Amino acid sequence: MLRIRNLHAGYSGISVLHGVSLHVAQGETVCLVGANGAGKSTLLQAVSGLIRPISGELRFEGQDLSRMASHRIVAAGLVQVPEARELFPSMTVRENLDLGAFALRNRLAAADIRNNRARLLELFPVLGQRLEQKAGTLSGGEQQMLAIARALMARPRLLVLDEPSLGLAPLVIKEIFRTLQELQAEGLTILLVEQNALAAMRISTRAYVLQAGRLLLSGTAEELQANDEFRRAYLGRD
Ligand code: ATP
Repeated sequence: MLRIRNLHAGYSGISVLHGVSLHVAQGETVCLVGANGAGKSTLLQAVSGLIRPISGELRFEGQDLSRMASHRIVAAGLVQVPEARELFPSMTVRENLDLGAFALRNRLAAADIRNNRARLLELFPVLGQRLEQKAGTLSGGEQQMLAIARALMARPRLLVLDEPSLGLAPLVIKEIFRTLQELQAEGLTILLVEQNALAAMRISTRAYVLQAGRLLLSGTAEELQANDEFRRAYLGRD
């Protein structure tokens, strides 16, 4: 579904990613782990069309993403939940959700968008209780749920999440990962970037480890968990 080959990308012509290759097949949940500054967010920005690759191949369902505008990437079905969440704090939960369907406004009837919203409120009941509340007044966990729900309003085929557990309490993280598992069970394909490797590995079919802009390791969750170097560096275990 997503194929990245020998990707070099960075800022102002300076490379941060030095030849990264990875793929995500339909129905998989793939996680990308790595320390601060490894280049995880840079990779996601390239995938979402926010920065242009210096060289290499970026394909989603056969389409070349490397020259595609970011709104067209969303319309093609690749939707990212950004790290900073980027909600509109003075707009209500309902308004934020409806903005997620913006890319579909010409293709879906208003009734379909409403149905999609109703289904998401079943998945995130806490948002249903707060539809008219301003997004800026939600707790951190609720804001993350709203950011995920808003991305789902665009009906992605590949959902990309950048550190959904960042700054959240363990119980909230559990709740978010449980919701991701429900989405998985419904057949959604997920690319997850996480520093919380332990939580991410529990729900992932495969993982890649990025270090200083290069892939260090990759494999199934079981393979990586059996790797001493990985366990020590990313799971904090001997
Ligand atoms: P974190 O987990 O801390 O977000 P990361 O793995 O996502 O880390 P990136 O944010 O991709 O890492 O950063 C990789 C490198 O690129 C860092 O050295 C960072 O300083 C640099 N970088 C990131 N964004 C920019 C930017 N807009 N302009 C210049 N350099 C940048």
